[in-house]
Amino acid sequence: MLIIPVYDTVVIPFTTLYFNIDYYKRMTGVDPKLGAEVLFVFMKDDTPYNALTDESFASIGVQGEVLDEGQSGFVSIKTRDRMNIKNATVTDHRISIEATERPDIEDLSDDEYKEHVNTIKNALLNSLQYFEGGNIYRSWIVRLRTIEEVIATSAGWMDIEPEMKYEFVKTDSKKERIALYEKVIYENLEMYRVTSEAKNAQEDENQKVYREQAIKKQIDFLQKELDELHPENVSETRKLELKLQDSKMNEEARTEATKAISRMKQEGQNSPEYGQLFNYVDFLTDLPWEKSDSSIDLKNAKEILDQEHYGLKKVKKRILQQIAVMSLNKKQSGSILLFVGAPGTGKTSIGQSIAHALGREYVRVALGGVRDEADIRGHRRTYIGAMPGRIMDAIHKSHASNPVMVLDEVDKLSQSYNGDPASALLEVLDPEQNFSFTDHYMNVPYDLSDVFFICTANSLDTIPEPLLNRMEVIQFNGYTPIEKLQIAKRHLLPKAIKAMGLDDHLTIDDETLSTIINDYTMEAGVRGLKKRIDTLCREAAINIVEGNGDITISKDQLREYLDMHPISHEHVHEIKQPGIVTGLAWTQAGGDILFIETALTKGSGKIIITGQLGDVMKESAQIALSIVKSKFPNLSDVFKDHDLHIHVPAGATPKDGPSAGITLTTALASLITGHPVSPEFAMTGEVSLRETIMPIGGLNEKLMAAQRAGVKTVFIPNENKDDLDDVADEIKDKLTIIPVSHVDEVLEKTGIKKEAR
Ligand code: ADP
Repeated sequence: MLIIPVYDTVVIPFTTLYFNIDYYKRMTGVDPKLGAEVLFVFMKDDTPYNALTDESFASIGVQGEVLDEGQSGFVSIKTRDRMNIKNATVTDHRISIEATERPDIEDLSDDEYKEHVNTIKNALLNSLQYFEGGNIYRSWIVRLRTIEEVIATSAGWMDIEPEMKYEFVKTDSKKERIALYEKVIYENLEMYRVTSEAKNAQEDENQKVYREQAIKKQIDFLQKELDELHPENVSETRKLELKLQDSKMNEEARTEATKAISRMKQEGQNSPEYGQLFNYVDFLTDLPWEKSDSSIDLKNAKEILDQEHYGLKKVKKRILQQIAVMSLNKKQSGSILLFVGAPGTGKTSIGQSIAHALGREYVRVALGGVRDEADIRGHRRTYIGAMPGRIMDAIHKSHASNPVMVLDEVDKLSQSYNGDPASALLEVLDPEQNFSFTDHYMNVPYDLSDVFFICTANSLDTIPEPLLNRMEVIQFNGYTPIEKLQIAKRHLLPKAIKAMGLDDHLTIDDETLSTIINDYTMEAGVRGLKKRIDTLCREAAINIVEGNGDITISKDQLREYLDMHPISHEHVHEIKQPGIVTGLAWTQAGGDILFIETALTKGSGKIIITGQLGDVMKESAQIALSIVKSKFPNLSDVFKDHDLHIHVPAGATPKDGPSAGITLTTALASLITGHPVSPEFAMTGEVSLRETIMPIGGLNEKLMAAQRAGVKTVFIPNENKDDLDDVADEIKDKLTIIPVSHVDEVLEKTGIKKEAR
């Protein structure tokens, strides 16, 4: 008998199977012959044909008979008897088997048999309703006569597991076999019914949704018509809903806003929560959610920057680089710019120019004195009077998602028990995080990645390190008097004249402007200058309105118009006196000169320090004293029976910082050697106990102050030599600048110590 192994399924008696002729030949090793007997044996697992063993076969198979010889390319085989399989062996990949017929147990009466056939046929007919086009099988089912036929034909389309099919094959009792089959068919029927019910329910549900949408659209349309007829009746919630519809906000925000509106409806207008919810939705819907487009024209940007600000060459160059990178990247590039410099040097206003140059909105956030994290990140809405933080508030005000945002005075942020505003700011500025910045008030993320952030500060000392690391520092130096004159002429004066509508009626010449700069202001920037010019313009306005005609303000009238005394700048002393040396200081307002005065009085070796010196400066005095004592051992006995008094005049102003080290040292050396130092020498530099001179900050401002005060020669730390590139030529030309790296060099050049090291 020919043997065909069957994998993964079971064939049951009385079915017709079709085999591809090649497959048939491969399996049986012979051509198909009409009436040939074939035994289907079922494999227990999926061991491949060439690895079959004696144990691979199930103990019952099904025999069949070839019905044709494969003329159509297919061989059909009708299965018939169930067979017991014995002594299955596999040698050289060929299977040999002893098979004997397995007879049925006829335990059904004819009547019972017929009844079962009928019920199963009815069940099958019943199942047809669940199949599309199922009715065409009706007549075929009606014609079935034997239980075997019924089982065989329906097994094809019912979902019957191979295990169950094998059960059919295995069961000898006809009664049991039919019972099994009935169970399967009823299970299948139930499954069809449930599936079909679910499908119908889904269709119903879909229809409901479509209907609901259609109704909503109609309501919207009708409501709009009504609103247009009676605009006065449009309710607040309705207005918010309309705003929400038009807003381009992200899904998260939309869900929050929708929730808030329905809560407003529930609560009603008299609820205390109503107003708060209104503000919330109003804020969310007002925010610019769409990307604002921006194109960058570098040439135009350069022109605008030049037009609006005088000088600031380096700063402008760096800004243009940033703009160029942005035009390539199409977004704000990695580093955040930090503008550092004295007040009035144009940090904030150049931010405004950048916005002009880029054609973007400008918005300024003042951070001075911010100590609460909620100022940056907003209050949660559970707080009474909760508000969004300053960043989101600024975005709201700017009406754009890509404004130029100037974060003013980051050095004035302070920390408090209410969290650290600097770390919140870090999140705002960090390009890795700020595309989904979540303000506590909003409670939904907002994309800040298109915002052009610029920070400003007066000094770097108080900026938290992590914040500073994210930023690229751009230094704004103070202006020289000549630069200030140009700024006044080209910008401040014309702007003030225009703002006050003075047209051609007011003239202020250069000499007058220079006098204002030199005698009526003392600053690194131009804020004071702007104020003075504004004052003059107001005075002129009165004059003109009173009918006194056009007016020219000369430098002699300044005192009267400005109603103030000229500021007396410290000027170098005329007389030389041992123990007094000129130093240079950096202040928030720019640079200034200061005098270190030292004196010895009869006493017991005490040190008296006056002039509001800070701790660092007091330590510098101690270092200076130690250096001088070790340098002049023969003279240092004088400190035993004398008190040393160190004073820095202008006693009301607190002074601190290490940069007076060299001045203190020179003053003490001058004092005990009795050798006066020319007042035309000035110096700045920190000293160490090893007597080396270390670098200092604010060189530019200090040199300007030195030149203004009439100093001729300035000693600066050697390591600050590179900073001289940033100092204007007009200052450098008027000073002899001597870089030094050791105390001895100063003592030698000032004549205190004749011999070189
Ligand atoms: P900061 O922010 O550094 O304190 P501001 O930007 O407020 O200074 O500048 C003060 C004023 O001085 C502004 O009116 C500004 O326009 C003007 N100003 C400063 N620098 C320049 C400059 N280089 N050219 C023209 N105007 C300037």
